[in-house]
Amino acid sequence: MNIYLKRNDLAIYGGEPYRKEPFRQWPLAGNEEREILSEVLDSGNWWRISGTKVKEFEDKFAELQSCKYCLGVTSGTHALELCLQALELHPGDEVIVPAFTFISTVTAVINCGLTPVLSDVDGETYCMTPQTLEKVITSKTKAVIPVHMAGNACDMEGICNIAHKFGIYIVEDAAHAHGGEWNNQRLGSYGDFGIFSFQNGKLMTCGEGGCIVTNSEDLYRRIYLLHGVGRPENDKGYHHLVLGSTCRMSEFHAAVLLPQINRINSMNQRREYNAAYLDSLLEKVSGIIPQKRTSRTTIFTHYMYMFYYESDKFGGISRDEFVDILNKEGIPAFIAFPVVSTVEFFVNQNFEDKIENYDYTKENDLKCAKIIANNVVWLHHRVLNGNAKDLDDVAGAIQKIQNCLL
Ligand SMILES: *Cc1c(COP(=O)(O)O)cnc(C)c1O
Repeated sequence: MNIYLKRNDLAIYGGEPYRKEPFRQWPLAGNEEREILSEVLDSGNWWRISGTKVKEFEDKFAELQSCKYCLGVTSGTHALELCLQALELHPGDEVIVPAFTFISTVTAVINCGLTPVLSDVDGETYCMTPQTLEKVITSKTKAVIPVHMAGNACDMEGICNIAHKFGIYIVEDAAHAHGGEWNNQRLGSYGDFGIFSFQNGKLMTCGEGGCIVTNSEDLYRRIYLLHGVGRPENDKGYHHLVLGSTCRMSEFHAAVLLPQINRINSMNQRREYNAAYLDSLLEKVSGIIPQKRTSRTTIFTHYMYMFYYESDKFGGISRDEFVDILNKEGIPAFIAFPVVSTVEFFVNQNFEDKIENYDYTKENDLKCAKIIANNVVWLHHRVLNGNAKDLDDVAGAIQKIQNCLL
């Protein structure tokens, strides 16, 4: 590559973009989805009460995650809320969540009237660890929601040991980890519950949707009741055994998800292969440090390809400007999630009277979460669904930016 590039060669200042072709699109759908969707359309059975697709999807997804039970629901956020409701916790009870996550992990806790307590994450893997968890446990802690960040699995053996020691529940937030594994065991199968999201960008998608997996028959029965206004399966009268809401997955959503179950393992393999290749390319670029795999992640699903960006190696250009520049070079990149306690409603302490006010500014030990939130960039998994040329272009575009700025 020409190393005598100038700032004006950057696409953002009018130069040629490094990459002109689009990356592989997401979501992907083929004839299978079209056929099964029209089958549901013609059947007249559009909800699970009279249809068969949601049940079929649940059976297959439970098998995919090596769990006994799966329940399809309306979103990943609702999945988290249903799990917390099923655990029958009380106001004032604390639920530990990582400070670096998508906001739903925390809003679910608050919407259930429970107090979220933020734990730091590891600065290299971006995941909660047994140590960061143990540090924030109090006598009020009742549950923990470890998040498998970008599909990098948390140390579930260590987290389970601590949960056992303190008698707290585990709800795994596996929204990024369809088909993922820690130590050869599927994610979602370690905790009392595991949740998944099927929103548009996720590794399997039906636009909006989610599911819960569990190995406990008792917990499965409780979430089943809660997700359908308290009615048991096959209820013909109006029997509402518990106070529930309606969060049922529709037959259309299940229809679109079914063919994707057959593809997820091979797509995870492809992303593992491509992410390792991109790691090897970016190793040669100073100032770019990819997210480190946790020690016993046996399948890293790579929902996002995340890396640290060191602005002093790029002429002092900020992380946010770097993302804009990279986008203009034709690479779809994004800034990392903010630290949970820095989003607007947290800063304003606006919890809609669902929980007592709690001074989150006193939680000053979120050092790594803050550094990650401010310095990490991510690429969407569709970039990893393609071929070597796609990844050569990602690394090439980053190298071009560096050459132009130095
Ligand atoms: C996407 C996501 C969710 C929630 O998913 P929705 O289906 O959008 O409600 C929860 N947790 C994490 C970490 C997520 O990224």
